[in-house]
Amino acid sequence: MTPDEKRSDLPRYERVSVRRPMAARGDTDRAAKDSELLASAVLEELQVINGFMEFDIPEAAIGTLASAVTSRVESAFEVRWSPSWVARGRPHTWKEFDKWHARCNDCLAEAPASSSEDDAVSWFDAHYSSVHSNPESHGA
Ligand SMILES: [Zn+2]
Repeated sequence: MTPDEKRSDLPRYERVSVRRPMAARGDTDRAAKDSELLASAVLEELQVINGFMEFDIPEAAIGTLASAVTSRVESAFEVRWSPSWVARGRPHTWKEFDKWHARCNDCLAEAPASSSEDDAVSWFDAHYSSVHSNPESHGA
């Protein structure tokens, strides 16, 4: 069997040409942040499942798989950070390395690392009222 014959047995995927409408700078920044969050979420999920299921897939392979899945999803879908577990108008908060973080779900701005969740939420409250409450200065 020649390499070309082997290749013909593989499933064929159409190459998708991604044409995005002209976007304002804020839209581009938002899309880049959404993409970064998608890539991070895919990688983290693969790492968790790899550990939980004891697959012992090498970390480099996990990274390659995460990049491939992220790239495939982004070629055909519009992905926007919109965590269903966060109440509307509230930030997503999480603790990492003993510091609290908050992310605005409207523009994806992140709070500086805080010593408490209350401090992270306070950052969000100030951020939201200064950036999103005034229509004249509405960010992304
Ligand atoms: Zn915001």
